Amino acid sequence: MPIATVNPANGETLKTYDALGAEEIEHRLATAEAAYRAHRTTSYADRARLLRRAADLLDEDVPEIGRVMTTEMGKPVKQARAEAAKCAKAMRWYADHAEELLADEVAPESAARDSGASRVLVRYRPLGPVLAVMPWNFPLWQVVRFAAPALMAGNVGLLKHASNVPQTALYLEDLFRRAGFPEGCFQTLLIGSGAVEGVLRDPRVRAATLTGSEPAGRAVASVAGDEVKKTVLELGGSDPYVVMPSADVGAAARTAVTARVQNNGQSCIAAKRFIVHADVFDAFAEAFTAGMRALRTGDPQEEETDIGPLATEQGRADLEELVDDAVENGATVLCGGERPDGPGWYYPPTVLADITPAMRVHQEEAFGPVATLYRAADLDEAVSLANDTPFGLSSNVWTRDEAEVERFVRDLEAGGVFVNGMTASHPAFPFGGVKRSGYGRELSGHGIREFCNITTVWHG
Ligand code: NDP
Repeated sequence: MPIATVNPANGETLKTYDALGAEEIEHRLATAEAAYRAHRTTSYADRARLLRRAADLLDEDVPEIGRVMTTEMGKPVKQARAEAAKCAKAMRWYADHAEELLADEVAPESAARDSGASRVLVRYRPLGPVLAVMPWNFPLWQVVRFAAPALMAGNVGLLKHASNVPQTALYLEDLFRRAGFPEGCFQTLLIGSGAVEGVLRDPRVRAATLTGSEPAGRAVASVAGDEVKKTVLELGGSDPYVVMPSADVGAAARTAVTARVQNNGQSCIAAKRFIVHADVFDAFAEAFTAGMRALRTGDPQEEETDIGPLATEQGRADLEELVDDAVENGATVLCGGERPDGPGWYYPPTVLADITPAMRVHQEEAFGPVATLYRAADLDEAVSLANDTPFGLSSNVWTRDEAEVERFVRDLEAGGVFVNGMTASHPAFPFGGVKRSGYGRELSGHGIREFCNITTVWHG
């Protein structure tokens, strides 16, 4: 894929970039290593001051960087601005909490004595330069949720961003520089995916985090495994959204629309499979489909647009193939399902019912505004359908029955269970999945500790 800004609303190539050559990559790795040596010795207070400054600058830039993100990947501009504001909030959260999250943990005296020590503590020390391979769907947020904790922990970041969001990638490097982080603390590497292996094998790079597709995750984790380097993977998701008879069905249907189409449907934590108890299936299907039909599709730079184009032509072709395969195998189209004529990579909000395991969409992630509806006879079938996927990122359940809630929390194979609401990330809570959705956690104390050297300090 060329490194370029291509406007998904009309297919126009606006800016192209040359990939870095070997010498430039070497220079950046050396700069990262040197920056790390200094940054690791700075105080939490100093790091927090710089991160708060980055948050302030980002707040000032919200309208402009929102417009840039929308130009590069097509999300509605009001959502792009919300993403930028959320990034500033996450920076402040880590600036406020990192020191406490990484404070020394003093072992109980009895355990210390039992080991023959006078005193034992655990200290969270940084690891070094961390490579972040990031996707285009939340081009600021995916990076910031890695960078804010990494920088606060004393690590430095090397960003290999998706090839279709180079302006956002360069903006991030510039933002951290303007905030006062020394040269090398956060660098963008304009490289194609083929150059990732060489960077990852470099001994100066100590760990990697990747958000993206399963093949990309597998490729990066294989190299990292070969080099015995830690990885965190946030891969795809096909989150279930279960609605039981005791739920407020109207509220469940309204929230379901947002849960499915946020970010033009291109979110790993979007609800994708709607599993509805037979008693409320018809009411839910009708309200949900009406909500999907009512969405305004159009120019993503317009304030009133709900759905813009998909980010890439390939992404639309993949989605279209999934829908066509389902229809050929007997799915019923309740709305959408036809690619519109005209410029841009638009795809309409689509609802499919009568899904069977023979259809690809039953097992694969639909990365766009396409919802699949399942009818469940009872709680057992709802749980079993929800888990019948290779993914396990998050899940959503709607019920007012506490016993059912407990059953879902016990049995759903996912990194999150959101009750009577939709999945959303927040800096204070861990984010990540099980099964093919990846491993490790981002955000919260769990996220910041992923790239730490958890050191036992024993005093005789
Ligand atoms: P990719 O997973 O291909 O891209 C994500 C990042 O990984 C990009 O920076 C990409 O670089 C890089 N990358 C890709 N392949 C490799 C590799 N072999 N080695 C090293 N780095 C690699 O996402 P796509 O844009 O192709 O999207 C395809 C599908 O992935 C989507 O339909 C969706 O299912 C899933 N996806 C999930 C996301 C999530 O949030 N979990 C986000 C994006 C996609 P480059 O851009 O240069 O190829």
